[in-house]
Amino acid sequence: MLRAVSLDRVRSASEPFDFAIIGGGATGLGIAVDAASRGHRVALFEQADFAKGSSSRSTKLVHGGVRYLRQGNVALVLEALRERGRLARNAPHLVRNLEFVIPTYAWWEGPFYGIGMKVYDGLAGKLGFGPSRHLSLDESLAMLPNIEREHLTGGVIYHDGQFDDARLAVNLAQTAEANGAAMLNYCRCTGLVKELGAVAGVEVRDAETGEEFTVRARGVINATGVFVDDVRRMDEAAAVKMVAVSQGIHVVLPRSFLPGETALMVPKTADGRVLFAVPWHNCVVVGTTDTARGTAELEPRALDEERDFVMEHARRYLARDPADSDVLSIFAGLRPLVRAAGGKDTAALSRDHTIVVSESGLLTITGGKWTTYRRMAEDMVDRAEIVAGVENRACVTADLPIHGATQTQHPEVNFQPYGADAAPLADLVKGDPQWAEWLHPALPYQCGEVVWHARHEMARTVEDVLARRTRALLLNARAAIEAAPIVARLLSAELGRDAAWQRAQVEAFTILARGYVFTDPASRAATVFA
Ligand SMILES: Cc1cc2nc3c(=O)[nH]c(=O)nc-3n(C[C@H](O)[C@H](O)[C@H](O)COP(=O)(O)OP(=O)(O)OC[C@H]3O[C@@H](n4cnc5c(N)ncnc54)[C@H](O)[C@@H]3O)c2cc1C
Repeated sequence: MLRAVSLDRVRSASEPFDFAIIGGGATGLGIAVDAASRGHRVALFEQADFAKGSSSRSTKLVHGGVRYLRQGNVALVLEALRERGRLARNAPHLVRNLEFVIPTYAWWEGPFYGIGMKVYDGLAGKLGFGPSRHLSLDESLAMLPNIEREHLTGGVIYHDGQFDDARLAVNLAQTAEANGAAMLNYCRCTGLVKELGAVAGVEVRDAETGEEFTVRARGVINATGVFVDDVRRMDEAAAVKMVAVSQGIHVVLPRSFLPGETALMVPKTADGRVLFAVPWHNCVVVGTTDTARGTAELEPRALDEERDFVMEHARRYLARDPADSDVLSIFAGLRPLVRAAGGKDTAALSRDHTIVVSESGLLTITGGKWTTYRRMAEDMVDRAEIVAGVENRACVTADLPIHGATQTQHPEVNFQPYGADAAPLADLVKGDPQWAEWLHPALPYQCGEVVWHARHEMARTVEDVLARRTRALLLNARAAIEAAPIVARLLSAELGRDAAWQRAQVEAFTILARGYVFTDPASRAATVFA
């Protein structure tokens, strides 16, 4: 992906695009893939980096959502399980089948959760990842050696999917581009173009140069997640808010707290939520929370009470308790929940997606989850074709391979998330002895990957590389800070930047990354806004 090429295309377009998409998270990227693969002319604008918002901060599960089953939302679970199966087929390099154990501490929990998980298996049908079953006490201890043993009676095992959210986002951007879309990060939509009262395009500012330009489009799609109301107010100043913001945080611990390949699922925390501890790379990700927030921020911060809640539950369910000093990273994300009439509890608001069309024809989509991004996109493009008067064409994404799709595992484990790109990446890394060096002794990434990110994945900043092309910031925030200077040097050589740019990049990344370090109270207060 070359940013300059996309920029040139949108600036010099002589005809309106069929669709301009605002927002480069799961929702907007999915829509770009869908519309472009139907043969429509598409341009997407993301104000920061692809997946900078909620889409890089998820629990990383491709799942039907066991909690929605408990709430009786069978239709949502069914749709998500179907999408889980499709994603595993279309992006096998990024989705893996994971075993989850629900530990049981009372006689009735085994049958209770056992029946629930059988219903889950039944809904998945042929797309199931494997059958659930009861575990004896010994089997549970063998699968979760560090589980709290006091009163443990056994467990229930079930299967679900795990994926890499930000890597999938980059691969979706590449898929959309391969199908003809112009994909731009660091381009903010600052206003809407209107003709005779109808939305006819977007005003855009390139964050790198400050240049402003107008892009005309027959349909404009607002896919800005928790920010949809800001864009709706560019259209109608008095638009009533449609999104409630719910924060969820994750604490990342060393893998030794959850050795093995099995995830832990706590079906009911002290306040009735679901909590996961999931093995990821050489770490374990524990979360999440559901905290109503008044405003949407691009770089949200975990609240002290959220950190305490997650750590307290980790200590309750793990035999060897993690200390605050064990925390490698802590990250927060914001769920865009569609407001229901009345009620403030965000856990009860709709996880389903919603599409609204304004009087001037602005199309807005929000809600849903990563797992259902493809279905959301199909619904949106079906609707957008009608609203924008664009030729109606059939959706092809149910069976469309996503960039990198391959069943072949690359022998070098750290290159596996690149899928089909792993072989050319490995060749590139061999091209220069410096590129074979590791970014940091505690991180599973090599210098040559940064070069690849700049050349092929539109990485523009140190943060793009350390937070989303690699997942260094989430895996080990301190190590990521220490790796920032070398990433800045490698990127600046690729992007033609100078020493001042490198210094500014390292400083900006260090300020941001300190917010992911648990034990640094000074940096906790340093909230970085967009
Ligand atoms: C804690 C947590 C855990 C989750 N876990 C899971 C999970 O395990 N599995 C699952 O399926 N789902 C999960 N989800 C849900 C999933 O992450 C979200 O539903 C999804 O990422 C939302 O994507 P989005 O594209 O709508 O929003 P976002 O990813 O936030 O994307 C919106 C984008 O719009 C951009 N933008 C805003 N304004 C403008 C503008 N004016 N111009 C240009 N761009 C703009 C933003 O920069 C942002 O990148 C989780 C969510 C959270 C918060």
